[in-house]
Amino acid sequence: MGGQARGDEMSEISARVFANTSSWMVRGIYLACAVFVFLFIASVFLVLDYSVYQANSFGISTERKLVQQQFQHQIDEVVKYQAELSFRDETVKEARGSSFSDSFVQRRIHDWLWSDFGFSWIVFSETGHQTKLAVNNGVAVAPDKADGLLFWIDDLVYEANQSYWAALKPEKDGFRLRMMDSDREQLSAPLPYIHAADMRMVDGRMSIVVVQAVVPKSLFIPKGSEQPIIMITVKPISEKMLASMSQRLAIEDLHVVADEENKNRPDAYTPVGKGFTDGPFLVAWTPNAPGPFIWQSAMPKVAILSLLAALSMGFIAWRFGAVVRALQKSEATNRFLAKHDALTGLANRIAFEESLTAMMEEHPEGPIAVLAVDLDKFKAVNDQHGHAAGDAVLKAVAARFSDRVGDAGLVARLGGDEFMVLIPNANETTIMALAAGLVIDAQVPIVFNEMLLQVGGSAGAALFPRDGHNIRNFVHAADMALYAAKNSGRNRAVLYEGDAIMRPSTAAA
Ligand code: GH3
Ligand code: MG
Repeated sequence: MGGQARGDEMSEISARVFANTSSWMVRGIYLACAVFVFLFIASVFLVLDYSVYQANSFGISTERKLVQQQFQHQIDEVVKYQAELSFRDETVKEARGSSFSDSFVQRRIHDWLWSDFGFSWIVFSETGHQTKLAVNNGVAVAPDKADGLLFWIDDLVYEANQSYWAALKPEKDGFRLRMMDSDREQLSAPLPYIHAADMRMVDGRMSIVVVQAVVPKSLFIPKGSEQPIIMITVKPISEKMLASMSQRLAIEDLHVVADEENKNRPDAYTPVGKGFTDGPFLVAWTPNAPGPFIWQSAMPKVAILSLLAALSMGFIAWRFGAVVRALQKSEATNRFLAKHDALTGLANRIAFEESLTAMMEEHPEGPIAVLAVDLDKFKAVNDQHGHAAGDAVLKAVAARFSDRVGDAGLVARLGGDEFMVLIPNANETTIMALAAGLVIDAQVPIVFNEMLLQVGGSAGAALFPRDGHNIRNFVHAADMALYAAKNSGRNRAVLYEGDAIMRPSTAAA
């Protein structure tokens, strides 16, 4: 039987108990703190990542609006240039004549629209179907050369025609074109809204196409000449235009996206114009994404925050661990003390009675032996050398008893100088031999403060079930035997043998 423990082993035992019960709890706290730190850092990163995403999308959507405005502005510019010619009496006169004069083509179209502003096509067409003049890159060409262009912008011609007829307001001897609602903010002269404009692919280049009827400056159309002559202008979007737009918008690499690239669009792109059969064009650019800047400026703060979170959680885990350790150590000590004697570390009365009860239940047929041992003349040590000396004697004797009994049984201190030894599987001979050994152990002098202290020991032995059927009778029998040993002169062991031993003892006392 094991479980013998001495005072100096107590801290070791409680430490072991503590290690078993508390480690999972402390580990749990460490894990919880680590998970918290991880979640904290992860959520900071997620929030940051989301903000970067939002900031990037916001930046791109702003740039998208600006790019669309820029293209609309370019279209408005072309409408304005075209209006210089389409609202000109000279143009009306030329268009209504049998053919355009060479000087008009040279001055107005070649020198001005082509050379100065890069308009690639100027076409005059009667009601949009009968081409009267086609000028390509400043040079008059055969009217049928414009057929391809007219085919692809048929919808714009139709729209311009509709607008023209809608704006006609009958008047005496003719019609007058209705003005757009005048806008005080607009500095240019108000004009009727009779044009149609869009971005179109012309000759393989994205171009601005503007279509509108040629009308006199007075906006009065005499009766009989209300059938419009439509003017079509095409201005290709040049690399130079794109570059200057890029510069104005402070964005980079603004370019028209070809169809093949549509599948693999860059992040920033926008449709421009209304489009026709192929849908609107796409232009793309390199966006000014604020993401990298946000990451860069936030990273040091995130790092510091994460470090602080980790440090505070580490501190909490450490402190909590220490508190748990202390609590469980005291809990283990308490549990140990509940069953042990604080001075000697031996089992106490409770532990002794529990062990004896268990053993009696396990072996109802026995044999089980108990020895009641009491030191002789112990009080004298206390009286002569003080309580500390008495304690030293108790500890030394307890250690000797433990060593002698070893794994063969249990040694308990019931109180004062009174010990109990519990031995299973003992017979008269073995128990009396052990008792004699314990008596000698009690007699061996003890060194204390350079003095030799000496006491003696008396023992009474009883056997279960022979000397008592229950724990009370059994222990009482051992006590009676001890009493007999004391009474018959001390420093000896007596085996309980019924009332026979009681009579001479009581007689002696
Ligand atoms: P006897 O030979 O008849 O057994 O007498 P004794 O001198 O040994 O005295 P007894 O057994 O009657 O009393 C034991 C004494 O032990 C009484 C008490 O003052 C003392 N004592 C009890 N507990 C402790 C303790 O924990 N430490 C010390 N030093 N003394 C104790
Ligand atoms: Mg005594």
